[in-house]
Amino acid sequence: MSNRVVQGRMVTPERLAELVEGESVMDAEAIEDADRDCPECGGDVLSVGYMPDITAFVTAYKCQDCDWSEREE
Ligand SMILES: [Zn+2]
Repeated sequence: MSNRVVQGRMVTPERLAELVEGESVMDAEAIEDADRDCPECGGDVLSVGYMPDITAFVTAYKCQDCDWSEREE
């Protein structure tokens, strides 16, 4: 497990992926620290790789401090 605090809440990799995807995901890898700062607030950005469905793999980026997020297919 690699639970992390995002916007004051402890999240699992699956939960972090769901926050960015907006719906449930099939599988998620461990949360990592992305080597970038949030463009909105300058906060720390986390990344998580996940499969929204069986044929796709997405890397999601999510700020720990605000609502900013981004996804890369
Ligand atoms: Zn932010």
